[in-house]
Amino acid sequence: GRAGQPGGRATWQSLRMDPFEDTLRRLREAFHAGCTRPAEFRAAQLRGLGRFLQENKQLLHDALAQDLHKSAFESEVSEVAISQGEVTLALRNLRAWMKDERVPKNLATQLDSAFIRKEPFGLVLIIAPWNYPLNLTLVPLVGALAAGNCVVLKPSEISKNVEKVLAEVLPRYLDQSCFAVVLGGPQETGQLLEHRFDYIFFTGSPRVGKIVMTAAAKHLTPVTLELGGKNPCYVDDNCDPQTVANRVAWFRYFNAGQTCVAPDYVLCSPEMQERLLPALQSTITRFYGDDPQSSPNLGRIINQKQFQRLRALLGCGRVAIGGQSDESDRYIAPTVLVDVQEMEPVMQEEIFGPILPIVNVQSVDEAIEFINRREKPLALYVVKRVLTQTSSGGFCGNDGFMHMTLASLPFGGVGASGMGRYHGKFSFDTFSHHRACLLRSPGMEKLNALRYPPQSPRRLRVL
Ligand code: NAD
Repeated sequence: GRAGQPGGRATWQSLRMDPFEDTLRRLREAFHAGCTRPAEFRAAQLRGLGRFLQENKQLLHDALAQDLHKSAFESEVSEVAISQGEVTLALRNLRAWMKDERVPKNLATQLDSAFIRKEPFGLVLIIAPWNYPLNLTLVPLVGALAAGNCVVLKPSEISKNVEKVLAEVLPRYLDQSCFAVVLGGPQETGQLLEHRFDYIFFTGSPRVGKIVMTAAAKHLTPVTLELGGKNPCYVDDNCDPQTVANRVAWFRYFNAGQTCVAPDYVLCSPEMQERLLPALQSTITRFYGDDPQSSPNLGRIINQKQFQRLRALLGCGRVAIGGQSDESDRYIAPTVLVDVQEMEPVMQEEIFGPILPIVNVQSVDEAIEFINRREKPLALYVVKRVLTQTSSGGFCGNDGFMHMTLASLPFGGVGASGMGRYHGKFSFDTFSHHRACLLRSPGMEKLNALRYPPQSPRRLRVL
Protein backbone atom coordinates (compact mmCIF):
# COMPACT_ATOMS: atom_id res chain seq x y z
CA GLY A 1 0.00 0.00 0.00
CA ARG A 2 1.02 3.54 -0.48
CA ALA A 3 1.31 6.28 2.07
CA GLY A 4 -2.07 7.80 2.78
CA GLN A 5 -3.98 4.61 1.92
CA PRO A 6 -5.56 3.36 5.16
CA GLY A 7 -4.98 -0.33 5.67
CA GLY A 8 -2.49 -0.35 2.82
CA ARG A 9 -5.10 -1.49 0.32
CA ALA A 10 -4.30 -0.40 -3.20
CA THR A 11 -7.27 1.42 -4.64
CA TRP A 12 -7.98 2.34 -8.23
CA GLN A 13 -6.80 5.84 -7.37
CA SER A 14 -3.46 4.68 -5.98
CA LEU A 15 -2.76 2.39 -8.92
CA ARG A 16 -3.13 5.33 -11.22
CA MET A 17 -0.59 7.35 -9.27
CA ASP A 18 2.38 8.34 -11.32
CA PRO A 19 5.73 8.25 -9.49
CA PHE A 20 7.19 11.06 -11.58
CA GLU A 21 4.32 13.51 -11.70
CA ASP A 22 5.12 15.54 -8.58
CA THR A 23 8.82 15.85 -9.38
CA LEU A 24 8.19 16.95 -12.94
CA ARG A 25 5.54 19.47 -11.91
CA ARG A 26 7.90 20.94 -9.31
CA LEU A 27 10.74 21.32 -11.82
CA ARG A 28 8.50 22.84 -14.45
CA GLU A 29 7.20 25.42 -11.97
CA ALA A 30 10.78 26.34 -11.04
CA PHE A 31 11.62 26.82 -14.70
CA HIS A 32 8.59 29.03 -15.31
CA ALA A 33 9.49 31.08 -12.24
CA GLY A 34 12.76 31.86 -14.05
CA CYS A 35 15.04 30.34 -11.37
CA THR A 36 17.54 28.89 -13.84
CA ARG A 37 17.90 31.91 -16.13
CA PRO A 38 20.47 34.11 -14.34
CA ALA A 39 24.11 33.44 -15.21
CA GLU A 40 24.95 33.47 -11.51
CA PHE A 41 22.53 30.62 -10.80
CA ARG A 42 23.93 28.54 -13.66
CA ALA A 43 27.50 29.17 -12.52
CA ALA A 44 26.57 28.11 -8.98
CA GLN A 45 25.20 24.80 -10.32
CA LEU A 46 28.34 24.21 -12.35
CA ARG A 47 30.53 24.95 -9.36
CA GLY A 48 28.41 22.51 -7.34
CA LEU A 49 29.00 19.85 -9.97
CA GLY A 50 32.74 20.56 -9.83
CA ARG A 51 32.73 20.18 -6.05
CA PHE A 52 30.80 16.93 -6.32
CA LEU A 53 33.55 15.52 -8.54
CA GLN A 54 36.36 16.78 -6.37
CA GLU A 55 35.01 15.84 -2.96
CA ASN A 56 33.80 12.39 -4.00
CA LYS A 57 36.63 11.31 -6.25
CA GLN A 58 37.48 8.21 -4.22
CA LEU A 59 33.84 7.24 -3.84
CA LEU A 60 33.41 7.51 -7.61
CA HIS A 61 36.57 5.53 -8.35
CA ASP A 62 35.36 2.81 -5.97
CA ALA A 63 31.92 2.69 -7.57
CA LEU A 64 33.44 2.45 -11.06
CA ALA A 65 35.76 -0.32 -9.87
CA GLN A 66 32.81 -2.23 -8.42
CA ASP A 67 30.67 -1.87 -11.52
CA LEU A 68 33.30 -2.38 -14.24
CA HIS A 69 36.62 -3.17 -12.54
CA LYS A 70 37.91 0.10 -13.97
CA SER A 71 41.46 0.95 -12.98
CA ALA A 72 42.05 4.27 -11.23
CA PHE A 73 43.75 5.50 -14.41
CA GLU A 74 40.80 4.63 -16.64
CA SER A 75 38.31 6.07 -14.16
CA GLU A 76 40.25 9.27 -13.92
CA VAL A 77 40.94 9.94 -17.60
CA SER A 78 37.69 8.71 -19.10
CA GLU A 79 35.19 9.63 -16.39
CA VAL A 80 36.17 12.08 -13.65
CA ALA A 81 38.73 14.33 -15.36
CA ILE A 82 36.75 14.55 -18.59
CA SER A 83 33.64 15.66 -16.67
CA GLN A 84 35.69 18.09 -14.60
CA GLY A 85 37.22 19.52 -17.79
CA GLU A 86 33.76 20.23 -19.20
CA VAL A 87 32.72 21.97 -15.97
CA THR A 88 35.81 24.19 -16.07
CA LEU A 89 35.33 25.03 -19.74
CA ALA A 90 31.66 25.91 -19.24
CA LEU A 91 32.40 28.07 -16.20
CA ARG A 92 35.12 29.93 -18.05
CA ASN A 93 32.94 30.62 -21.09
CA LEU A 94 29.44 30.78 -19.66
CA ARG A 95 28.85 34.50 -20.08
CA ALA A 96 30.30 34.57 -23.59
CA TRP A 97 28.14 31.61 -24.66
CA MET A 98 25.02 33.23 -23.18
CA LYS A 99 25.54 36.53 -24.97
CA ASP A 100 23.11 37.51 -27.73
CA GLU A 101 24.76 36.94 -31.07
CA ARG A 102 24.52 39.99 -33.38
CA VAL A 103 23.87 39.08 -37.02
CA PRO A 104 24.23 40.95 -40.35
CA LYS A 105 21.20 42.94 -41.51
CA ASN A 106 19.60 43.83 -44.85
CA LEU A 107 18.60 47.23 -46.15
CA ALA A 108 15.11 47.19 -44.67
CA THR A 109 16.34 46.42 -41.15
CA GLN A 110 19.34 48.74 -40.93
CA LEU A 111 17.88 50.69 -38.00
CA ASP A 112 16.76 47.62 -36.10
CA SER A 113 18.46 45.23 -33.81
CA ALA A 114 18.90 41.66 -35.09
CA PHE A 115 20.31 38.91 -32.91
CA ILE A 116 20.15 35.27 -31.92
CA ARG A 117 19.23 34.64 -28.33
CA LYS A 118 20.24 31.33 -26.76
CA GLU A 119 17.41 30.45 -24.44
CA PRO A 120 16.90 27.33 -22.37
CA PHE A 121 14.40 24.77 -23.66
CA GLY A 122 12.84 24.26 -20.23
CA LEU A 123 12.62 20.83 -18.68
CA VAL A 124 15.12 18.43 -20.20
CA LEU A 125 15.61 14.71 -19.71
CA ILE A 126 19.02 13.05 -19.89
CA ILE A 127 19.09 9.24 -20.18
CA ALA A 128 22.47 7.54 -19.83
CA PRO A 129 24.00 4.09 -20.43
CA TRP A 130 26.22 2.01 -18.12
CA ASN A 131 29.57 1.85 -19.93
CA TYR A 132 30.85 5.30 -18.91
CA PRO A 133 28.18 5.81 -16.29
CA LEU A 134 29.62 9.03 -14.90
CA ASN A 135 30.95 10.73 -18.04
CA LEU A 136 27.82 10.08 -20.11
CA THR A 137 25.50 11.51 -17.45
CA LEU A 138 27.60 14.45 -16.29
CA VAL A 139 28.99 15.77 -19.58
CA PRO A 140 25.49 16.29 -21.04
CA LEU A 141 24.40 17.64 -17.64
CA VAL A 142 27.05 20.37 -17.84
CA GLY A 143 25.58 21.57 -21.15
CA ALA A 144 22.00 21.40 -19.89
CA LEU A 145 22.76 23.37 -16.72
CA ALA A 146 24.95 25.92 -18.49
CA ALA A 147 22.12 26.55 -20.94
CA GLY A 148 19.75 27.26 -18.03
CA ASN A 149 17.46 24.25 -18.12
CA CYS A 150 15.81 22.29 -15.34
CA VAL A 151 17.06 18.73 -15.57
CA VAL A 152 15.84 15.21 -14.89
CA LEU A 153 18.72 12.75 -14.92
CA LYS A 154 18.05 9.05 -15.53
CA PRO A 155 21.27 7.10 -14.96
CA SER A 156 21.60 3.49 -16.06
CA GLU A 157 20.17 0.99 -13.59
CA ILE A 158 22.80 -1.53 -14.72
CA SER A 159 25.89 0.28 -13.39
CA LYS A 160 24.25 0.19 -9.98
CA ASN A 161 27.08 1.43 -7.78
CA VAL A 162 27.52 4.60 -9.79
CA GLU A 163 23.75 4.98 -10.00
CA LYS A 164 23.63 4.93 -6.20
CA VAL A 165 26.23 7.70 -5.85
CA LEU A 166 24.46 9.81 -8.47
CA ALA A 167 21.10 9.36 -6.74
CA GLU A 168 22.27 9.83 -3.16
CA VAL A 169 25.18 12.25 -3.31
CA LEU A 170 24.94 14.40 -6.45
CA PRO A 171 21.61 16.12 -5.57
CA ARG A 172 23.23 17.56 -2.42
CA TYR A 173 25.46 19.69 -4.66
CA LEU A 174 22.71 21.05 -6.90
CA ASP A 175 19.58 23.11 -6.39
CA GLN A 176 16.90 20.48 -5.90
CA SER A 177 14.09 22.72 -7.03
CA CYS A 178 15.60 22.62 -10.54
CA PHE A 179 17.26 19.22 -10.67
CA ALA A 180 16.27 15.63 -9.93
CA VAL A 181 17.69 12.15 -10.37
CA VAL A 182 15.10 9.48 -11.14
CA LEU A 183 15.75 5.76 -11.06
CA GLY A 184 14.48 2.86 -13.07
CA GLY A 185 14.97 0.33 -15.83
CA PRO A 186 13.13 -0.08 -19.13
CA GLN A 187 9.63 -0.15 -17.62
CA GLU A 188 10.01 2.94 -15.42
CA THR A 189 11.85 4.83 -18.14
CA GLY A 190 9.03 4.00 -20.53
CA GLN A 191 6.60 5.51 -18.06
CA LEU A 192 8.82 8.56 -17.62
CA LEU A 193 8.91 9.05 -21.38
CA GLU A 194 5.14 9.39 -21.54
CA HIS A 195 5.54 12.81 -19.96
CA ARG A 196 6.20 15.92 -21.93
CA PHE A 197 9.77 17.17 -21.88
CA ASP A 198 11.18 20.13 -23.78
CA TYR A 199 14.31 18.26 -24.82
CA ILE A 200 15.54 14.68 -24.51
CA PHE A 201 19.22 13.76 -24.64
CA PHE A 202 19.67 9.99 -24.93
CA THR A 203 22.86 7.93 -25.00
CA GLY A 204 22.50 4.20 -25.55
CA SER A 205 21.69 1.54 -28.10
CA PRO A 206 20.02 2.18 -31.47
CA ARG A 207 17.20 -0.17 -30.39
CA VAL A 208 16.25 1.93 -27.35
CA GLY A 209 17.01 5.11 -29.31
CA LYS A 210 14.05 4.26 -31.52
CA ILE A 211 11.81 3.81 -28.46
CA VAL A 212 12.92 7.19 -27.12
CA MET A 213 12.38 8.96 -30.43
CA THR A 214 8.92 7.41 -30.83
CA ALA A 215 7.94 8.61 -27.35
CA ALA A 216 9.39 12.07 -28.05
CA ALA A 217 7.45 12.31 -31.32
CA LYS A 218 4.14 12.14 -29.41
CA HIS A 219 4.98 15.54 -27.91
CA LEU A 220 7.11 16.81 -30.82
CA THR A 221 10.02 16.94 -28.37
CA PRO A 222 13.43 17.46 -30.01
CA VAL A 223 16.05 14.82 -29.29
CA THR A 224 19.74 14.17 -29.40
CA LEU A 225 20.49 10.48 -29.86
CA GLU A 226 24.03 9.33 -29.11
CA LEU A 227 23.93 5.74 -30.35
CA GLY A 228 26.40 3.01 -31.20
CA GLY A 229 27.49 1.02 -34.19
CA LYS A 230 30.38 -0.94 -35.63
CA ASN A 231 33.38 1.37 -35.97
CA PRO A 232 35.71 0.24 -38.76
CA CYS A 233 39.46 0.59 -38.49
CA TYR A 234 41.21 0.34 -41.83
CA VAL A 235 44.92 -0.48 -41.72
CA ASP A 236 46.88 0.30 -44.86
CA ASP A 237 49.82 -1.87 -45.99
CA ASN A 238 52.19 1.06 -45.48
CA CYS A 239 51.48 1.33 -41.75
CA ASP A 240 53.99 0.28 -39.12
CA PRO A 241 52.42 -2.86 -37.56
CA GLN A 242 53.76 -2.24 -34.05
CA THR A 243 52.40 1.31 -33.91
CA VAL A 244 49.05 0.08 -35.23
CA ALA A 245 49.00 -2.75 -32.68
CA ASN A 246 49.69 -0.38 -29.76
CA ARG A 247 47.00 2.05 -30.78
CA VAL A 248 44.34 -0.45 -31.79
CA ALA A 249 44.88 -2.67 -28.71
CA TRP A 250 44.77 0.30 -26.39
CA PHE A 251 41.41 1.54 -27.51
CA ARG A 252 39.87 -1.88 -28.26
CA TYR A 253 40.63 -3.25 -24.76
CA PHE A 254 40.10 0.00 -22.80
CA ASN A 255 37.12 -0.55 -20.43
CA ALA A 256 37.17 -4.19 -21.65
CA GLY A 257 36.00 -3.01 -25.05
CA GLN A 258 32.75 -1.51 -23.73
CA THR A 259 33.20 1.79 -25.53
CA CYS A 260 30.92 3.26 -28.17
CA VAL A 261 33.87 4.75 -30.09
CA ALA A 262 36.15 1.69 -29.87
CA PRO A 263 37.32 0.20 -33.16
CA ASP A 264 34.92 -2.69 -33.67
CA TYR A 265 36.87 -4.51 -36.35
CA VAL A 266 40.02 -4.19 -38.43
CA LEU A 267 40.04 -4.20 -42.23
CA CYS A 268 43.41 -5.04 -43.78
CA SER A 269 45.11 -7.18 -46.39
CA PRO A 270 46.13 -10.78 -45.56
CA GLU A 271 49.79 -9.66 -45.70
CA MET A 272 49.20 -6.91 -43.14
CA GLN A 273 47.32 -9.38 -40.96
CA GLU A 274 50.39 -11.66 -40.88
CA ARG A 275 52.53 -8.77 -39.61
CA LEU A 276 49.86 -7.42 -37.27
CA LEU A 277 49.18 -10.62 -35.32
CA PRO A 278 52.60 -11.00 -33.63
CA ALA A 279 52.64 -7.26 -32.96
CA LEU A 280 49.20 -7.46 -31.31
CA GLN A 281 50.29 -10.48 -29.27
CA SER A 282 53.34 -8.68 -27.91
CA THR A 283 51.33 -5.51 -27.18
CA ILE A 284 48.67 -7.44 -25.26
CA THR A 285 51.35 -9.15 -23.16
CA ARG A 286 53.09 -5.83 -22.52
CA PHE A 287 49.79 -4.15 -21.50
CA TYR A 288 48.24 -6.91 -19.40
CA GLY A 289 50.99 -9.46 -18.66
CA ASP A 290 50.97 -13.20 -19.36
CA ASP A 291 47.78 -13.63 -17.36
CA PRO A 292 45.49 -10.70 -18.26
CA GLN A 293 42.89 -11.95 -15.77
CA SER A 294 45.15 -10.91 -12.90
CA SER A 295 45.99 -7.53 -14.44
CA PRO A 296 44.65 -4.52 -12.51
CA ASN A 297 44.47 -2.68 -15.84
CA LEU A 298 41.84 -4.77 -17.58
CA GLY A 299 38.13 -4.19 -16.95
CA ARG A 300 35.35 -6.74 -16.62
CA ILE A 301 32.09 -7.28 -18.48
CA ILE A 302 29.26 -5.37 -16.81
CA ASN A 303 26.88 -8.30 -16.16
CA GLN A 304 26.05 -11.93 -16.93
CA LYS A 305 23.77 -11.09 -19.82
CA GLN A 306 26.51 -9.21 -21.66
CA PHE A 307 29.05 -11.86 -20.70
CA GLN A 308 26.97 -14.67 -22.25
CA ARG A 309 26.43 -12.64 -25.40
CA LEU A 310 30.16 -12.00 -25.77
CA ARG A 311 31.16 -15.57 -25.01
CA ALA A 312 28.97 -16.75 -27.86
CA LEU A 313 30.81 -14.34 -30.20
CA LEU A 314 34.12 -16.07 -29.38
CA GLY A 315 32.88 -18.92 -31.57
CA CYS A 316 33.01 -16.84 -34.75
CA GLY A 317 35.94 -17.28 -37.14
CA ARG A 318 39.11 -18.62 -35.53
CA VAL A 319 40.75 -17.42 -32.31
CA ALA A 320 44.24 -16.11 -33.11
CA ILE A 321 44.96 -14.49 -29.72
CA GLY A 322 43.22 -14.91 -26.33
CA GLY A 323 39.80 -16.51 -26.39
CA GLN A 324 39.69 -17.54 -22.70
CA SER A 325 36.77 -16.59 -20.46
CA ASP A 326 35.73 -17.06 -16.82
CA GLU A 327 32.08 -16.76 -16.01
CA SER A 328 32.53 -16.37 -12.23
CA ASP A 329 34.64 -13.25 -12.80
CA ARG A 330 32.84 -12.04 -15.97
CA TYR A 331 36.31 -12.10 -17.52
CA ILE A 332 36.96 -12.27 -21.24
CA ALA A 333 40.58 -12.25 -22.40
CA PRO A 334 41.76 -9.64 -24.91
CA THR A 335 40.95 -11.56 -28.06
CA VAL A 336 41.71 -11.35 -31.79
CA LEU A 337 39.61 -13.34 -34.27
CA VAL A 338 40.65 -14.10 -37.85
CA ASP A 339 39.00 -15.83 -40.83
CA VAL A 340 35.77 -14.08 -39.92
CA GLN A 341 32.90 -14.14 -42.42
CA GLU A 342 30.80 -11.05 -42.97
CA MET A 343 27.58 -12.92 -42.19
CA GLU A 344 28.73 -14.20 -38.77
CA PRO A 345 27.15 -12.61 -35.65
CA VAL A 346 30.42 -10.92 -34.66
CA MET A 347 30.21 -8.87 -37.87
CA GLN A 348 26.48 -8.18 -37.51
CA GLU A 349 26.11 -6.60 -34.05
CA GLU A 350 28.17 -4.01 -32.19
CA ILE A 351 30.68 -6.15 -30.24
CA PHE A 352 31.02 -3.97 -27.13
CA GLY A 353 33.64 -6.24 -25.56
CA PRO A 354 37.38 -7.10 -25.75
CA ILE A 355 37.10 -9.00 -29.04
CA LEU A 356 38.71 -7.75 -32.24
CA PRO A 357 37.86 -9.46 -35.53
CA ILE A 358 40.14 -8.92 -38.52
CA VAL A 359 38.44 -8.94 -41.90
CA ASN A 360 40.59 -9.21 -45.02
CA VAL A 361 40.21 -6.82 -47.92
CA GLN A 362 42.46 -6.62 -50.97
CA SER A 363 42.58 -2.85 -51.38
CA VAL A 364 41.52 0.48 -49.96
CA ASP A 365 38.68 0.54 -52.51
CA GLU A 366 37.36 -2.74 -51.19
CA ALA A 367 37.60 -1.36 -47.63
CA ILE A 368 35.61 1.74 -48.62
CA GLU A 369 33.04 -0.41 -50.35
CA PHE A 370 32.76 -2.63 -47.25
CA ILE A 371 32.27 0.38 -44.94
CA ASN A 372 29.73 2.02 -47.22
CA ARG A 373 27.43 -0.97 -47.54
CA ARG A 374 26.86 -0.99 -43.76
CA GLU A 375 25.07 1.39 -41.35
CA LYS A 376 26.94 4.66 -40.76
CA PRO A 377 29.27 4.19 -37.78
CA LEU A 378 29.94 6.54 -34.88
CA ALA A 379 33.67 6.71 -35.52
CA LEU A 380 36.06 5.73 -38.26
CA TYR A 381 39.79 5.11 -37.97
CA VAL A 382 41.83 5.29 -41.13
CA VAL A 383 43.96 7.24 -43.56
CA LYS A 384 42.96 10.38 -45.42
CA ARG A 385 41.56 9.06 -48.64
CA VAL A 386 38.86 7.13 -46.84
CA LEU A 387 37.73 10.35 -45.14
CA THR A 388 36.35 11.86 -48.33
CA GLN A 389 34.64 8.71 -49.61
CA THR A 390 32.80 7.46 -46.51
CA SER A 391 30.61 8.84 -43.72
CA SER A 392 30.68 8.51 -39.92
CA GLY A 393 29.89 10.56 -36.80
CA GLY A 394 33.56 11.31 -36.20
CA PHE A 395 36.90 10.51 -37.77
CA CYS A 396 40.38 10.00 -36.39
CA GLY A 397 43.25 9.37 -38.81
CA ASN A 398 46.24 7.32 -37.63
CA ASP A 399 44.75 6.71 -34.18
CA GLY A 400 41.46 6.20 -32.35
CA PHE A 401 39.53 7.87 -29.51
CA MET A 402 41.64 10.99 -29.48
CA HIS A 403 39.27 13.05 -31.61
CA MET A 404 36.77 12.95 -28.77
CA THR A 405 39.19 14.42 -26.24
CA LEU A 406 38.95 17.78 -28.03
CA ALA A 407 36.01 19.81 -26.71
CA SER A 408 36.48 22.05 -29.76
CA LEU A 409 35.19 19.21 -31.99
CA PRO A 410 31.50 18.25 -31.96
CA PHE A 411 30.82 14.69 -30.80
CA GLY A 412 27.88 12.78 -32.24
CA GLY A 413 26.64 10.24 -34.74
CA VAL A 414 25.06 10.21 -38.18
CA GLY A 415 22.50 7.77 -39.59
CA ALA A 416 22.20 4.73 -37.33
CA SER A 417 24.86 6.06 -34.95
CA GLY A 418 22.60 8.93 -33.94
CA MET A 419 21.76 12.58 -34.44
CA GLY A 420 22.87 15.80 -32.78
CA ARG A 421 26.18 16.75 -31.22
CA TYR A 422 27.71 17.87 -27.92
CA HIS A 423 30.93 18.56 -25.92
CA GLY A 424 32.10 22.05 -24.98
CA LYS A 425 30.18 24.86 -26.63
CA PHE A 426 28.33 22.32 -28.80
CA SER A 427 26.64 21.06 -25.60
CA PHE A 428 25.54 24.56 -24.68
CA ASP A 429 24.12 25.09 -28.15
CA THR A 430 22.41 21.69 -28.14
CA PHE A 431 20.55 22.53 -24.95
CA SER A 432 19.62 26.05 -26.11
CA HIS A 433 16.90 27.14 -28.45
CA HIS A 434 18.40 29.57 -30.94
CA ARG A 435 15.70 32.20 -31.00
CA ALA A 436 15.73 34.48 -34.01
CA CYS A 437 15.08 38.00 -32.77
CA LEU A 438 14.46 41.21 -34.64
CA LEU A 439 13.65 44.30 -32.63
CA ARG A 440 12.20 46.82 -35.05
CA SER A 441 12.67 50.51 -34.55
CA PRO A 442 9.33 52.08 -33.55
CA GLY A 443 10.02 55.29 -35.48
CA MET A 444 10.78 55.90 -39.15
CA GLU A 445 7.32 54.75 -40.19
CA LYS A 446 7.74 56.56 -43.50
CA LEU A 447 10.28 54.00 -44.55
CA ASN A 448 7.63 51.30 -44.23
CA ALA A 449 5.29 53.04 -46.65
CA LEU A 450 6.88 51.14 -49.51
CA ARG A 451 5.48 47.81 -48.32
CA TYR A 452 1.88 48.92 -47.65
CA PRO A 453 -0.86 48.67 -50.30
CA PRO A 454 -1.96 49.99 -52.67
CA GLN A 455 1.10 49.10 -54.69
CA SER A 456 1.52 50.51 -58.16
CA PRO A 457 3.34 48.59 -60.94
CA ARG A 458 5.98 51.33 -60.77
CA ARG A 459 6.84 50.35 -57.18
CA LEU A 460 7.40 46.79 -58.25
CA ARG A 461 9.98 48.00 -60.74
CA VAL A 462 11.78 49.91 -57.94
CA LEU A 463 12.04 46.66 -55.96
P1 NAD B 1 20.59 0.85 -23.61
O1 NAD B 1 20.02 1.47 -24.81
O2 NAD B 1 20.20 -0.54 -23.26
O3 NAD B 1 20.21 1.71 -22.30
C1 NAD B 1 20.43 3.11 -22.24
C2 NAD B 1 19.42 3.73 -21.28
O4 NAD B 1 18.10 3.48 -21.74
C3 NAD B 1 19.50 3.20 -19.85
O5 NAD B 1 19.38 4.29 -18.95
C4 NAD B 1 18.29 2.29 -19.75
O6 NAD B 1 17.74 2.25 -18.47
C5 NAD B 1 17.32 2.90 -20.72
N1 NAD B 1 16.44 1.90 -21.34
C6 NAD B 1 16.72 0.58 -21.62
N2 NAD B 1 15.68 -0.01 -22.20
C7 NAD B 1 14.69 0.91 -22.30
C8 NAD B 1 13.36 0.90 -22.81
N3 NAD B 1 12.83 -0.21 -23.34
N4 NAD B 1 12.65 2.03 -22.74
C9 NAD B 1 13.16 3.15 -22.23
N5 NAD B 1 14.42 3.22 -21.74
C10 NAD B 1 15.18 2.13 -21.76
O7 NAD B 1 22.16 0.99 -23.76
P2 NAD B 1 23.31 0.41 -22.82
O8 NAD B 1 23.34 -1.07 -22.94
O9 NAD B 1 23.20 1.01 -21.45
O10 NAD B 1 24.61 1.04 -23.52
C11 NAD B 1 25.24 0.44 -24.61
C12 NAD B 1 24.89 1.13 -25.91
O11 NAD B 1 25.08 2.51 -25.81
C13 NAD B 1 25.78 0.69 -27.06
O12 NAD B 1 25.01 0.52 -28.23
C14 NAD B 1 26.73 1.86 -27.23
O13 NAD B 1 27.30 1.98 -28.51
C15 NAD B 1 25.86 2.99 -26.91
N6 NAD B 1 26.67 4.12 -26.48
C16 NAD B 1 26.75 5.22 -27.27
C17 NAD B 1 27.53 6.29 -26.87
C18 NAD B 1 27.66 7.54 -27.70
O14 NAD B 1 28.19 8.51 -27.18
N7 NAD B 1 27.20 7.59 -28.92
C19 NAD B 1 28.22 6.22 -25.66
C20 NAD B 1 28.12 5.07 -24.91
C21 NAD B 1 27.33 4.04 -25.30
